[in-house]
Amino acid sequence: MTSSQISISRRRTRRVLIGGIGVGGDEPIRVQSMTNTDTADIESTVTQCAELARAGSEFVRITVNNETAAAAVPRIRERLDAMGIGVPLIGDFHFNGHRLLSDYPACAEALAKYRINPGNVGRGEKRDSQFATMVEIACRYDRPVRIGVNWGSLDQDLVVRMMDANAKSPQPKEADVVMREAMVESAVGSAQRAEELGLPRDHIILSCKMSGVQDLIAVYRMLAERTDHALHLGLTEAGMGSKGIVASTAALAVLLQEGIGDTIRVSLTPAPGESRTREVVVAQEVLQTMGLRPFAPMVAACPGCGRTTSTVFQELAEEIQDYLREQMPVWREVHPGVETMQVAVMGCVVNGPGESKQANIGISLPGTGEQPSAPVYIDGQKVTTLKGAGIAERFKEMVNDYVAERYPSGGPGA
Ligand code: SF4
Repeated sequence: MTSSQISISRRRTRRVLIGGIGVGGDEPIRVQSMTNTDTADIESTVTQCAELARAGSEFVRITVNNETAAAAVPRIRERLDAMGIGVPLIGDFHFNGHRLLSDYPACAEALAKYRINPGNVGRGEKRDSQFATMVEIACRYDRPVRIGVNWGSLDQDLVVRMMDANAKSPQPKEADVVMREAMVESAVGSAQRAEELGLPRDHIILSCKMSGVQDLIAVYRMLAERTDHALHLGLTEAGMGSKGIVASTAALAVLLQEGIGDTIRVSLTPAPGESRTREVVVAQEVLQTMGLRPFAPMVAACPGCGRTTSTVFQELAEEIQDYLREQMPVWREVHPGVETMQVAVMGCVVNGPGESKQANIGISLPGTGEQPSAPVYIDGQKVTTLKGAGIAERFKEMVNDYVAERYPSGGPGA
């Protein structure tokens, strides 16, 4: 049985519409990402938004941190539209969002959603009025907001109040428990305030991002118990490389398995020169490997061992994986259902034929020291044995033929 056959019951949340794309309710779990370009640099930001969207990011968040950035937003939107890229843009505001949204109405209009961090909208009386200004603008333009609480910028007035109350209680809780409760209170309380200001309940998404896996799980469990708002999940400051991927996956997988989460982001720090799109691919792979949502054909490949000491097997596995991803922007449009296809690329006869038979299409190399001779299986049946040089190219042709036949244009897919 594959994981896709195991159903996970999702927590029921209110559906929010962002630029025509639904989040929460019965909608699939959405993938989003954020640029790391200077928003004022229109060229770079448009290029990266386009890359992220093409990789499958369903929303792209951009920072709107100053007047030049706010002025750039509508031009970025226009440029993307001219390229035929309709991905909704989300504005990330801190400290001065109330002023930027007020002073740059074209920016407010070009954005499909505003992210408000309740810890960064000002202190004391200013906090309330500046928060109110942002919510009123969201109401005016009929835009949803994400109340995005972050561990690193938690509302300190709230923390002090809750810590004081805890200290006076007969059975005080540990400080870290109070901090987690403050995260949830900040999100839920701010959502309630936004509703009181007139923002419809189905225009609000909540998030409480933390950098510790267990903290994040604990906070989202609390959040899910307290509210039916759609929830955006993400481990903040996850880090670089495998650490960032593993930490994000560990946290998200537990919550997703419990049916918590309507949209996710994997916050990876790219290595210098590394594409920002990796965070999109990782987010998709988390959802797909859990059987929650297919995005692209998955390749089952064995790890290799002493039977695969040459690089032929690794090169073939990598080439096929890359090829399938490269085809997806076109295949997605013309071969509906292809994202569920399973492909196997195996190193030798020990597990190769068995795994290949389980896949839609699979190839098994012979192992080290033998002439390249690779049986190919389609829908469980051996159909041919590829030999000699050019095995990868010929296997790709067979995959193409299979896709065209099994997932015909306009057909229902399988
Ligand atoms: S399938 Fe063969 S090559 Fe791959 S890990 Fe197993 S024994 Fe090694």
